[in-house]
Amino acid sequence: MKKIQMVDLKGQYNEIKEVVNSSINEVIETTTFINGPKVHQFQKNLEDYLGVKHVIPCANGTDALQIAMMGLGLKPGDEVITADFTFAATVEVIALLNLTPVLVDVDPETFNIDIEAVKKAITPNTKAIVPVHLFGQCANMEALMEIAKAHNLYVIEDNAQAIGATYTFKDGTKAKAGTIGHVASTSFFPSKNLGAYGDGGAIFTNDDNLAHTIRGIVNHGMYERYHHDVVGVNSRLDSIQAAVLDAKLPYLDRYNKSRQHSARRYSQAFEPIDNIITPVTINNCEGICETCDCHVFHQYTLKIKGVDRDALVAHLQANNIPCGVYYPIPLHRQKAYADTRYNEADFTVTNQLIKEVISLPMHTELEPDQIDFITKTLIDFVKIN
Ligand SMILES: *Cc1c(COP(=O)(O)O)cnc(C)c1O
Repeated sequence: MKKIQMVDLKGQYNEIKEVVNSSINEVIETTTFINGPKVHQFQKNLEDYLGVKHVIPCANGTDALQIAMMGLGLKPGDEVITADFTFAATVEVIALLNLTPVLVDVDPETFNIDIEAVKKAITPNTKAIVPVHLFGQCANMEALMEIAKAHNLYVIEDNAQAIGATYTFKDGTKAKAGTIGHVASTSFFPSKNLGAYGDGGAIFTNDDNLAHTIRGIVNHGMYERYHHDVVGVNSRLDSIQAAVLDAKLPYLDRYNKSRQHSARRYSQAFEPIDNIITPVTINNCEGICETCDCHVFHQYTLKIKGVDRDALVAHLQANNIPCGVYYPIPLHRQKAYADTRYNEADFTVTNQLIKEVISLPMHTELEPDQIDFITKTLIDFVKIN
C-alpha cells in the first residue's frame, strides 16, 4: 500500500505532467506573465464549463469574495449573514470592508447555512447572504434565493469548495454551483477541487453590469487606462497559474467522479456502524451521486458519536493516516469575530459539530486498499472505545 496522504498533488501531477508542463512553457516562451492569453483562454473555458456569462479571474478566493462584495456596493454598517461553521476567509472580508457580519448556525446534516436561522437573522439593515457550499455540496440555494427575493438581498455564493458541483432545483432544472446567486467566488488554492500550483481565484456572475464593475475593481478601479473611477485593488490570476488551471479544467469532472467513488467506498464501509455518521447528500437528485454531481467531496467529513473524537484523531495519526478537523472552533467564538450580540443558544449545531467532525483523506489519487485500511482502522477504534 502506498503512503496515505490527505491530498496527493504529486500523484495527480504525474498523470498530467506533459499537458501541464507544455501549458506552462507556452507562458514562459512568450513571456506573457501578466494578463496573457492563457488567462483569457482559461476564463472563456471556465465560463463555458460553468454555463455562466462572466468569469473574472483574480489572485485568490479571499480576494474574490471581497471584490464581489465591493462590486455590489455594500456599505459600512450593512449586515451580511453567513455561516458560523466555515473557513474564516468568509467572515474576514465582511469585517475588512466594515460591513457587519451576522453569523448563523448550520444544518446538522449538510453542515450548510441553516435556512430558518437565516430568516431569523434578517433585519432592515441586512443586505446580503453568503452561503458557503461546504465540503463540496451546495447550500439550499432554492430557499435562499426565495428569501433574498422577498427581502431584496444579494446572495454571494462562496464556492471555494464546490467547483463542478451541480445543483438541482425542485422542478428538475440544474445549475452549476456558483452560477445561481447574484455573484459567486471561488478559490484555486492547490488542494481545492480545481487547484493551481500557487494561489488563484475567480468571481462568477451572470450580471453584465456587475461584471463590468468588478473587472475595473480588480484592476485598480480602472475602466480606461490611467482613469481611476473607483477605489480598486490589484488582484490578478497570474498567467502561469492560468496555464496550469486551463490544462487541468478538462479533468475536473473526472477528478470529481474519482472523489465520489472514494466517498462511496468510505460510506459503504461505515454504514453499519451506529457511532459513525456518514456525509448526507441532500439535493433533489437521485441522492447517491451515481449519476449526478450534487456533491463533489472537497472533504469527506464524518460525525463521530459517543467516542472521543480527539482520541480517534490521535489513533489515526499513530497509524500513519492523516486526517483533519474542519473546523475546530466556531467563528462566533474566534477572538476577531466574537461579539456580545451572539448568544450561545443560537449555535447549538455548530457547537456540537466542532466536537464530532473528522475529515478523512480525500483526493483524486486515493486507492481502494488505502480506503479499506482507513475504514478498518477507524472502525476497530470505534468498536473498542
Ligand atoms: C479556501 C477557501 C477560501 C479562501 O480561498 P483562498 O484562495 O485561500 O483565499 C474561502 N472560503 C472557503 C470556504 C474556502 O474553503
